[in-house]
Amino acid sequence: MMFELKNVTRRFGNKTAVDSVTLDIPQGQMVGIIGRSGAGKSTLLRMINRLQEPTSGSIHFAGVEVSSLRGQALRNWQRDCAMIFQQFNLVPRLDVLTNVMLGRLNHRSTAMSLLGIFTHQERIHAIAALERLGIEQTALQMAGTLSGGQQQRVAIARALMQNPKMVLADEPIASLDPLNAKIVMDALRDINEREGITVVTNLHTLDTARNYCERIVGMAAGRVVFDGKPSELTADAVKQIYGTDKDGAGIDETMTSTSINIPAAAAAQQSAGLQSLALAGL
Ligand code: ADP
Repeated sequence: MMFELKNVTRRFGNKTAVDSVTLDIPQGQMVGIIGRSGAGKSTLLRMINRLQEPTSGSIHFAGVEVSSLRGQALRNWQRDCAMIFQQFNLVPRLDVLTNVMLGRLNHRSTAMSLLGIFTHQERIHAIAALERLGIEQTALQMAGTLSGGQQQRVAIARALMQNPKMVLADEPIASLDPLNAKIVMDALRDINEREGITVVTNLHTLDTARNYCERIVGMAAGRVVFDGKPSELTADAVKQIYGTDKDGAGIDETMTSTSINIPAAAAAQQSAGLQSLALAGL
C-alpha cells in the first residue's frame, strides 16, 4: 500500500502555500516534515486529510484517488488517516473516556453518537487505548482538567479508536515541555512500530525529527527541498531548509532543538532560547 502525492499545490489568493509537492510514502513509514514557520507543512497535512482541498495535483492511497472522494467514501478516508493537533482538540467538558470514544464517530450512526450511546465493546476498546497510553486512571476526569501531555495522549488514544492506517500529527509536541514531548513522541513511535501505522508528523525541531523519524522531508516556501534519511541531513541541507537569518548567519542546528533528553536546568535555558527563536519567526 503506497500513499502518493502528485504535484500537489495549494494557493491562498496569490500566495502559494504548497508548491507542486510530489511524495511517495510506503505503508508503515515514520516521516517527519520540517521547515520554518509558513513553509507549508500544516497545509500539506490538512490536504492529505482533506480538511483543505488542493488547488491542483492529486493524492492517492492504494491506487484510489483520495482527492476526489465524496460523502461516505470521504468520511472513510478521514477515518483512515487520523489527525492529531498541536492544541489536542478534545472536548474539554466531556470526560476522557467519552472523548476517546468519539474517535468511533465515523464508524457509527449519527443518532447513536448524538445520544451518547456507546456499546460495551467500544468502552472496552477505549479503556484499552487509554491503558496503552498509560493514562487509564484519567478515564472519568473532564478532559480539560488534564495536563497538556496527558491531553495529547488522550488525542492519540482517540486516533487509535479510528483504527487508522495513517496518523497525521500537526506539531504534536509544540505546546509541551520536554518530558511530555518525549512521552508523546515515544507513543507515536510505538504505534508506528507495533501496528505498522504510517505516521506523518510536522515538527518544528530538527533533533526530534532526527531522533524519531526514519525519513525527513524538509520544506521551504511550499516546496520539498530535502527528502532523505536523518543521516543524509547535512549542515548544507539544514541551511537549504531553514535558510539564513536576516543578518546572513547560518542557522545552527542547536537553535531548533527541543532537547528532549537534556537535564531540567539546560532544558529551561533551551526553552528560553526557543522562545526567542519563535519571536524571530522561525
Ligand atoms: P507551516 O505549517 O509550515 O507553518 P502553513 O501551511 O501554516 O505553514 O502556511 C503556509 C503559508 O500559507 C503561510 O504563508 C500561511 O500564511 C499561508 N496560509 C495557510 N493557511 C492559510 C489560509 N487559510 N488563508 C490564507 N493563507 C494561508
